[in-house]
Amino acid sequence: MKDYYKILGVEKEATEEDIKKAYRKLAHQYHPDKSHGDEQKFKEINEAYQVLSNKDKRSQYDQFGRVFSAGGGSSSGGDGPFGNPFGGFDFGAGFDPSNFEDMGNMSEVFDAIFEGLGVKKRKTYQRGADLEVVQQITLEEAFTGVKRAVHIKTFIACKECAGVGHFPKEGTTTCDTCNGRGEIREARNTFFGSFSQVRACAKCSGTGQIPNKTCSTCKGVGRAIGERTLEIDITPGVGDGQMMKITKAGEVGERGAEQGDLYIRIKVKADKNFERHGDDLLLKKEVGFVDAVLGKKIEVQDISGEKIHVEIPADFNLKEQLRVSGRGMKRFGGFGRGDLYIEWHVKTPKKLSAKAKKLLEELAEEI
Ligand SMILES: [Zn+2]
Ligand SMILES: [Zn+2]
Repeated sequence: MKDYYKILGVEKEATEEDIKKAYRKLAHQYHPDKSHGDEQKFKEINEAYQVLSNKDKRSQYDQFGRVFSAGGGSSSGGDGPFGNPFGGFDFGAGFDPSNFEDMGNMSEVFDAIFEGLGVKKRKTYQRGADLEVVQQITLEEAFTGVKRAVHIKTFIACKECAGVGHFPKEGTTTCDTCNGRGEIREARNTFFGSFSQVRACAKCSGTGQIPNKTCSTCKGVGRAIGERTLEIDITPGVGDGQMMKITKAGEVGERGAEQGDLYIRIKVKADKNFERHGDDLLLKKEVGFVDAVLGKKIEVQDISGEKIHVEIPADFNLKEQLRVSGRGMKRFGGFGRGDLYIEWHVKTPKKLSAKAKKLLEELAEEI
């Protein structure tokens, strides 16, 4: 019986992460396409990983020393028409990485093999990932709207090959794996019978052609990590936490595949004067009690910096907020404004002169 732990060089107690690491290292080392590769060893490593990376299979293996596979994939035992039910896992002869896709849990294997080899990973090129950046702005900036230069580090198109990954001028050669058809038809024997299956050719990524000159700068992927600065317009009235989407401003895709999107999450800093409630603003304003009582016009500054003079109505309850219509935040997009609410904090003088005290007493009597 094969010792899968030994094959991967890990302990029986190894974590999933340990197993994955060990596998990746060995798969790179023994990959048949490499100069010191070893196909036999490579298959063994894959077999071990298939079992040990799968919780159920691993526990079966630990318990019984073998894996019961429903497909009976291995026919090496020749135990009747259904194959050997205890055959376990076998890659069989004619290893073809394009088979990997439906072997369950194999996308990692697939990645590991192609990672670092500069080989195209999938039949379809990968779309660039979406990116998210946070932009912090002040409440005033949220009111007026603001332009920002956003600096991002991400995949950008390879300058050498203009993001294509190869040089079209140098021409292409018909893929010898699929004879230019871009797909491979193959018979697969399973527990349920024999199937004929068509899949995209892994070697030419389904194009049927292999470029004569691959870009060495980007190893054929068409993109590289780089930096980009983007001018963005933040819309007036934007809210805290609001997302702005800039289509096709994210990561560049592989070999000219679609670019991802850029999401800008707006963070509006708390303001020392105004509290925001949707499109309305709340301002806490100190007012001298005499001014309040006498109904004087009180000067306040709204969010735009404009001075306004508010009069407290004679019958006004100072515990209430005074609404100044149309002086709040701009509504998103700049269409009109919310309201401004003023909360009054009545200031009483700390010290009263004898005269003031007398006057107040008279006032009290009068009221
Ligand atoms: Zn091909
Ligand atoms: Zn390139």
